[in-house]
Amino acid sequence: MHLSRFPRLHFAHLPTPLEKLPRLSEALGGPEIWIKRDDCTGLSTGGNKTRKLEFLMAEAQAQGADMVITQGATQSNHARQTAAAAAMLGMACHILLEDRTGSTEVDYNRNGNVLLDFLHGATAEKRPSGLDMNQEMERVADRFRAAGRKPYTIPGGGSNPTGALGYANCALELLSQANDRDLVIDHLIHATGSAGTQAGLVAGLAALNAGIPVLGIGVRAPKPKQEENVFNLAVATAERLGCPGAVRREHVVADCDYVGPGYGMATPGCIEAITMFAELEGILLDPVYSGKGAAGMIDMIRKGRFRRGERIVFLHTGGSAALFGYTKIFDFGERMQALDAPARAREAA
Ligand SMILES: *Cc1c(COP(=O)(O)O)cnc(C)c1O
Repeated sequence: MHLSRFPRLHFAHLPTPLEKLPRLSEALGGPEIWIKRDDCTGLSTGGNKTRKLEFLMAEAQAQGADMVITQGATQSNHARQTAAAAAMLGMACHILLEDRTGSTEVDYNRNGNVLLDFLHGATAEKRPSGLDMNQEMERVADRFRAAGRKPYTIPGGGSNPTGALGYANCALELLSQANDRDLVIDHLIHATGSAGTQAGLVAGLAALNAGIPVLGIGVRAPKPKQEENVFNLAVATAERLGCPGAVRREHVVADCDYVGPGYGMATPGCIEAITMFAELEGILLDPVYSGKGAAGMIDMIRKGRFRRGERIVFLHTGGSAALFGYTKIFDFGERMQALDAPARAREAA
């Protein structure tokens, strides 16, 4: 596994910190919880897409592209990070936003990641849910080609064997950090969606023969579909890495019991996880991915799935910019109402 053989641009802030979460660990009274801060990768508030974009944008440049096209949900972190990378490299960025939730909230549709997409100069168009979005994107790419542009298309979440190299790189980085501090990692847990993060980690860890089990917490697809997506991409990524056959089917484990009503719909467990990380550790999660990933981890700890003395690393994949698209899911009760006291006093006078 020799990653410098692949075209890559170096703009991620690496290595990301690997830190202990003492107050969260204590509150849950189970295993020792560590966090790998991939919310600190840089590119417009950071997140897991930065590592993938190092390889994807290098490929775009190598192909002589003058613009990138990508797609995602309305509050896509991937779209926002792609828009930022394109801005930094002087390329145009066009985004297809899929309406997966049907939300009519103004914040959901205009704030958070959408605000940042436009701030980075991207253009965007909307699609209803249920279409083959990667196919839609190829149609739009043809339109730009007909107009003389040279688009490079990036699949949803940047999840193809090129993007997944970014997470093979993360596997190498994490293993090296753990070795340097004599940390034996018993479990690596993170939110899994378009599959590139888990596929890259699984392929990288298998190539390194690390023996660290990865558990993806699903945010959209049911378990059989999610595991199939991750496995297929992990196999292709291992081939790219020069390690064909390294990934076995049993390396791929996803738990999809924490999706709730659907993609992008926050659950009570997700809101609790966001609140716990914020209040106990000063860390911001997000309502679509890392909040659900953390909710799954917290629930499993409470159910005794991980033993005391074991060490878990939670990979923080970012996404906090989406919080501003989901302001309505939080209820701060009396603390928020206290801010209205002067107005109420004025009314009463
Ligand atoms: C995209 C994303 C994920 C999921 O990663 P995949 O590679 O798509 O599986 C997790 N967390 C956040 C914050 C994301 O934006």
